[in-house]
Amino acid sequence: MKRKIIAKNKAISQKLARERIKLLFSEAEKAFSEHPERAKRYVEMARKIGTKHNVSLSGGLKKRFCKKCGGFLVPGTNCTVRLDSVKGNIIFTCKSCRTVKRYPYKKKK
Ligand SMILES: [Zn+2]
Repeated sequence: MKRKIIAKNKAISQKLARERIKLLFSEAEKAFSEHPERAKRYVEMARKIGTKHNVSLSGGLKKRFCKKCGGFLVPGTNCTVRLDSVKGNIIFTCKSCRTVKRYPYKKKK
């Protein structure tokens, strides 16, 4: 009985954590143009929440920050996005620390 309650609480806290992460990323997006440092801080907080509650950042959010320097990434501003159509990769390059990330993309049949 007790175990069930814990499991339920965990599900609730993970749901809340996901919502907070989403919120922090949207705040980071808003703050970025004027306060890039603040945006970085939001990303840091979102990642901490994810680790604490064992919530993985969804695919879309993972592409929004640099894993190495933790900066919030805005394509065309502080990161470049290129397509490698030969290998089928999307390549993100962080301009502040030069970290390159590759994501495979699949063509829909
Ligand atoms: Zn970086």
